[in-house]
Amino acid sequence: MKKSKPIIFLFLLLFIICLIISGCSTETGKTIVLKNVDIVPMTDEITLANMDVTIRDNIIADIQKAAVGMAENAEVIDCKGYYLMPGLCDMHVHMDKGWDTDEWPVCPLNLYLAKGVTTIRDMGRVDEDVNYVLKIKKMIDENKRLGPGILTSGQILFSSPLENPQARVMDNQEKGFDFIKIYSYLSQNDMIDSIKEAKKLGIYCTGHIPFEAGLERFLDAGMDEIAHVEELAYEFLEFERDNNLEDNQWIPYIVENTDAYIRKNENIDFDDTYGEELDRILNMLKTSNTKVATTMILDDVVSEKLFDKEAFLNARGTRYLPERYISEFKKGEDKHLKMFDRYGNVVVYKKRLDEWILKNIHENDIELILGTDSGTFGLGIVPGFSAHEELRILIEHGLTPFEALKTATVNAGKVIYEITGNNNFGTIEKGKRADFVLVRENPMESIDALENIEGVMVNGTWLSKEVLKALLQ
Ligand SMILES: [Zn+2]
Repeated sequence: MKKSKPIIFLFLLLFIICLIISGCSTETGKTIVLKNVDIVPMTDEITLANMDVTIRDNIIADIQKAAVGMAENAEVIDCKGYYLMPGLCDMHVHMDKGWDTDEWPVCPLNLYLAKGVTTIRDMGRVDEDVNYVLKIKKMIDENKRLGPGILTSGQILFSSPLENPQARVMDNQEKGFDFIKIYSYLSQNDMIDSIKEAKKLGIYCTGHIPFEAGLERFLDAGMDEIAHVEELAYEFLEFERDNNLEDNQWIPYIVENTDAYIRKNENIDFDDTYGEELDRILNMLKTSNTKVATTMILDDVVSEKLFDKEAFLNARGTRYLPERYISEFKKGEDKHLKMFDRYGNVVVYKKRLDEWILKNIHENDIELILGTDSGTFGLGIVPGFSAHEELRILIEHGLTPFEALKTATVNAGKVIYEITGNNNFGTIEKGKRADFVLVRENPMESIDALENIEGVMVNGTWLSKEVLKALLQ
């Protein structure tokens, strides 16, 4: 009974939101025109001034110079003086059954939309029925529920033995999941067998580099993508790969080794020490056309949690994290607080290493896609807010605002195309899905433009500033 009040409130709120948006959603045949808008199409570093964008059946039907006349029966939204950019994609999130309970003060789906994230890629879970993700995805696709578009990996191929890797991969596809995610604790053989089967079935493969295998074998097996920049950091840490550790022994083992290494070798200059190895790795990534998801925010959040708890607790998005998580954090029960309790130096070192890798990946034109690892109960990363933070971190480490935005739009769109065969995300062009963010300033001049979102369109449904505000209640 305790839960009835919030649930009634939630239904009321959903009802109000439905009322507000029902007038603005593109049910079949309905046309919406975004009028007199400056477009940042992301096809190139250009702005198209004073345009009309026509949306029909959730798709961009037309883009042309602003005209006086207007199609009949069209709903017109005046966007004069504003900039229209593609909706953002967060390509590394973890959906959770808790999203649909009162565990989170605001449902993460709403947090993403409120921050202009109109597509998320769910990177799966372990040992848990993940069919709820397919249900939510279906409801959103059929316009029965408001939320970003979803791609999903299904269960993570987490740990060996997998028993029958081929069957696992096939089953995942048959159930309707979009791609597979490999994890750190697979044996070399299970990794190879899983990827081989996936390639045979035309399935996209992303994930962690299994500790036993290492990067070279991982790429040789045919991986399409590395799920975190930090996965590459392990290539520069000293540890043995063939030592038969249990899953939960790997990270403590590597952390301890790294701690010992940096105590012996102070002020390590990465270019001097690892320059040659880095070139070899960059070459491999380039020739194999491997994409890398960013998730740099993890390093920032872990550092903050360890070294500046007040800053973490007072960050703008923190109040949207589950209350139970915050109280656990305050009691020191957070995963990272426990893991790095005696190893603050390792956290500092790894952050510096990841940033050095990011900078070099970027300078060598290896394709980055934006990911934030948001949505998991116990990490402290806030859905939606984290995408803006990630963009800021990318810019801090050498990307221009345009290049950073590409990771969350064009580049993400290319990966979605590879996964689904639908080339309809990431740019503002005729025929693409109507996913936009409307902002007051030009986001290619400063990413701070995302601080003032005037409206979001997700799959043809217009969410005004007021609706976005209500989504955060
Ligand atoms: Zn993750």
